[in-house]
Amino acid sequence: MRDTVKHQGLRKRLVEVLISKGIKDKAILQAIEKIPRHLFMDSSFEDFAYQDKAFPIAANQTISQPYTVAFQTELLQLKKNAKVLEIGTGSGYQTAVLLELGVKVFSIERQQELFKKTKMFLSKLHYRPKQLIFGDGYIGLEKQAPFDGIIVTAGAPFVPSPLLSQLKIGGRLVIPVGDKTQIMTLYIRKSEKEFEKHELGDFKFVPMLQKKN
Ligand code: SAH
Repeated sequence: MRDTVKHQGLRKRLVEVLISKGIKDKAILQAIEKIPRHLFMDSSFEDFAYQDKAFPIAANQTISQPYTVAFQTELLQLKKNAKVLEIGTGSGYQTAVLLELGVKVFSIERQQELFKKTKMFLSKLHYRPKQLIFGDGYIGLEKQAPFDGIIVTAGAPFVPSPLLSQLKIGGRLVIPVGDKTQIMTLYIRKSEKEFEKHELGDFKFVPMLQKKN
């Protein structure tokens, strides 16, 4: 596993692309400049790692597009030490971005193969999420709730109500909602019962799947 000057140069360019697309948060841009995204993908795709594109990983899933990762992370508006739940660990790239921001990360993945692979891989890179869970994101993680932020990285056919109820007051849920394409949706919890909803444009994700029987 190598990170070379060439990779670092490509990452600098990727950061410029993200800035040109409207990403402003310095800490997020620094995280993307630092994290060796090529190591999160199959080595045959290494050359594509620093294009601003989604890419295939194991178990028919994808590593999200860097712009999407940055955009969703920006919407969470996280402070250091915030408690964050991620649904869809996948390659672990989004997890690594969150960890670089100095937040506590809990992440759920429903594909066992990916769960195992990414768990080993993140620890090899010395990334330490609080907990990686093999399970179903539709139910969230009641044991660790409430969260400052919840980020869903798969396309959800609807907003699972446990995710809303596991937010702190003031907390934020960022979730792409829809069938073939998704609308990036931000919910801010205003009080026990009130949520503010913002819709922030079209995206395309792999589907958030219901539990296997
Ligand atoms: N954050 C990841 C994105 C991976 S794609 C990355 O940066 O690489 C979305 C992931 O969500 C896939 O790994 C998929 O297996 C997972 N997923 C789909 N439905 C899920 C569910 N109900 N619970 C948890 N994970 C789910």
